[in-house]
Amino acid sequence: MICPYCGYNQSTVLESRDTEEGRVTRRRRECLRCHKRFTTYERVGNIDLKVVKKDGRLEPFDPQKIIRGITKACWKRPVEEKTIQTIADEIEMKLLNRKRTAVPSRDIGRMIMNRLRKIDKIAYLRFASVYLDIENVKDFENILKEVR
Ligand SMILES: [Zn+2]
Repeated sequence: MICPYCGYNQSTVLESRDTEEGRVTRRRRECLRCHKRFTTYERVGNIDLKVVKKDGRLEPFDPQKIIRGITKACWKRPVEEKTIQTIADEIEMKLLNRKRTAVPSRDIGRMIMNRLRKIDKIAYLRFASVYLDIENVKDFENILKEVR
């Protein structure tokens, strides 16, 4: 397992938990070099989540992308790394529990927005402004109204 922060390939397992009737094992790991913690999911069988992009292309689901997106939105906001990790975990589990293996990127964006809204309004606005089509001014005005 490669550390998502520094790229080192050795880590210790802090916690291991089977989810979804044992089809997925969730592991909390700590990098032996930079000591940051990250979560991996090791799948048994053929859970092969794909994301359907706006232009219709399929790409493999990558939980780190969720984390990066949220981290960017939470820049200098009082949101802990742990919280961001939890959001990403919850979203991934939710997606894994769906019967479909192709998930529109729009759905993932909405799920992130729903969670950020409850946690930090500024982060929510930032994420929404990146994620939503800004040309759609009305959408953005609605969001502003909601936050006020
Ligand atoms: Zn590391």
